[in-house]
Amino acid sequence: DDEIALVGRSNVGKSTIMRELTGHSVPTGQKPGVTREPNHFDWSSQSFMFTDLPGFGFMSGVEGEHREAIQTDIVRYIEDNAESILAAVLVVDGKSVIDIIDRHSDRGEIPHDVEMYHFLKEVGIPTVVAVNKMDKVDDTDDRLNDLCDRLGLFPPWQQYEEEVIAPITAKAGRIDSLRTALQHHIRAAKRDEL
Ligand code: GDP
Repeated sequence: DDEIALVGRSNVGKSTIMRELTGHSVPTGQKPGVTREPNHFDWSSQSFMFTDLPGFGFMSGVEGEHREAIQTDIVRYIEDNAESILAAVLVVDGKSVIDIIDRHSDRGEIPHDVEMYHFLKEVGIPTVVAVNKMDKVDDTDDRLNDLCDRLGLFPPWQQYEEEVIAPITAKAGRIDSLRTALQHHIRAAKRDEL
């Protein structure tokens, strides 16, 4: 079964994106950090499914140790299912992602988003970075170029448009760039199968 996995810190808008992509809403009580099980959704028009993995990073009310366990589970899930995962969507909050990455880097830590991006590449899973909440970002080009820089991609960000970097506003249903990027990877995967 072909699968598309959504990963990202909690509160970045994964459930909102999932709802926009699939038309299904995430049942309450299934919020990241509460359940550590991946949620599966079918994408009606296509023959693969979306997996909403639990959110990683800081969550109020979730102990550090539990947070670590969630992270380990996500990595294990991806490793175990790498064969069937056609593409991953790493969701970040466009408004805060650079500050969060830089804060961790300044402390000498590897930021979760950066680590996850490299991990996905390492296991050979094509990854789209969905930069959500762009309605809250004024300096779009600067922000997206900064993000490229932090991920080890050379700006300008436009060279990764339609494949890697997908600025979206999920809350308003503006996710066309994500759909385009996913279709690109789906087509590429189908070509490889032939
Ligand atoms: P999750 O924890 O990653 O599943 O995030 P949710 O989908 O629950 O969204 C977290 C919060 O971000 C909610 O209050 C959403 O309404 C809000 N949100 C989601 N997408 C957007 C967006 O594009 N713009 C803005 N401003 N807020 C958004």
